[in-house]
Amino acid sequence: MQRKIYDEDHEAFREVVKEFVRRYATNEKREQWERDGEVDRATMLAAGEQGLIGLSVPEEFGGAGMIQDYRFRAIVNEEVIGAGHGSLAGALGIQDDLAVPYIVHMGTQAQKEKWLPGMATGEVLGALAMTDPGAGSDLRGVTTNAKKVDGGYILNGAKTFISSGKTADIVVTFVKTGEGNRPDAFSLVIVENGMEGFEHGKKLSKMGFHGWDTAELSFTDVFIPEENLIGGVEGHGFVQLMKNLPLERMSIGVSAAAAAEAAYKWTLDYTKERMAFGQPIAGFQNTRFRLADMATTVDVMWTYVDRAMELYAESKLTAEEAAQVKFWTTEREWEVLDQGVQLHGGYGYITEYPIARAFLDARVHRIYGGTNEVMRELVSRQLIGK
Ligand SMILES: Cc1cc2nc3c(=O)[nH]c(=O)nc-3n(C[C@H](O)[C@H](O)[C@H](O)COP(=O)(O)OP(=O)(O)OC[C@H]3O[C@@H](n4cnc5c(N)ncnc54)[C@H](O)[C@@H]3O)c2cc1C
Repeated sequence: MQRKIYDEDHEAFREVVKEFVRRYATNEKREQWERDGEVDRATMLAAGEQGLIGLSVPEEFGGAGMIQDYRFRAIVNEEVIGAGHGSLAGALGIQDDLAVPYIVHMGTQAQKEKWLPGMATGEVLGALAMTDPGAGSDLRGVTTNAKKVDGGYILNGAKTFISSGKTADIVVTFVKTGEGNRPDAFSLVIVENGMEGFEHGKKLSKMGFHGWDTAELSFTDVFIPEENLIGGVEGHGFVQLMKNLPLERMSIGVSAAAAAEAAYKWTLDYTKERMAFGQPIAGFQNTRFRLADMATTVDVMWTYVDRAMELYAESKLTAEEAAQVKFWTTEREWEVLDQGVQLHGGYGYITEYPIARAFLDARVHRIYGGTNEVMRELVSRQLIGK
């Protein structure tokens, strides 16, 4: 089904992204990222140079100024995921959807001047660390804490599962700055690489996204200067996180739709080529019916996600609506990918094939960004007015 959200500028940008993928995201590169467990810096710098990151950074700081317009980011996701590079898409997404927004929307003028130009070029890579080893869904259970001292804070604690945690230069970190677990007991601070007492733990070995780092971080008496408090205000961390969650969750919906579309296309091509019982397997009625299901699901996913992007552009996408998008699209993604694997037969299980890698990558979409159970909890609470 034809989509309506893109105009000529978007399609011109799509060509730029396609060219970037052709030049910088080769199969050899992907294998290198998978061996290293991370996307190399040169690729991220090339992405900066070609304008694929920093899309929401205001022009005065060297970005594209697409502050509420997610369509260009969606094209990056579609093309990079569509070419079978889930890990690269993840690394680009962390920068633009999870790190940059905290500085663009909530940073002080000094924080914007200091970090945004480098974030637009890829010289400064960011990450977002909310999850403690003991608290993921229950963010108010976080115990990583920053105690006020003269001129700043002393940070102690640990974070885990942090995407791009090893490769990031700065980490927007959710910490406890007050007593109890009221929302105003938490703040966001920027932890910089090289700060004394800040250590990157091991890169975690994952089921999917093998070319994208996920790391543990630890903080032992790290001095955080006052100017690294996001927005310069203490006690706003929880509210700041809530403000960015619609974007984060919508972005997962976009990735889910892009992965489902890619899976459908890979499967369509494969089933037209693969022969069994003297005919292409696409000739079997079961295969054709499954392909019809996949194509229809992908169309509905995009219709829903495109509407979310329109609402986001008008600053009208609510946290609950974004949560609905997140849980519904990631579950449809899973079904489409599972069907794609099935129609590839044994080859669908072999990671040389993009369908197998995308299937493994997709599993975490139902877990991170808030689990799908927590998403349903948020949505249902609003329904019954709790
Ligand atoms: C690959 C990867 C990348 C990640 N990247 C980041 C990152 O960049 N930054 C970051 O901060 N975090 C990141 N995370 C962490 C992720 O957001 C958390 O794992 C997730 O929020 C779940 O938290 P948890 O693991 O503590 O699970 P738990 O909260 O312990 O949940 C365990 C189970 O209990 C269920 N559950 C919990 N509470 C409820 C409830 N109220 N109602 C019903 N069921 C409930 C959950 O749905 C889940 O099924 C990442 C995780 C992974 C695996």
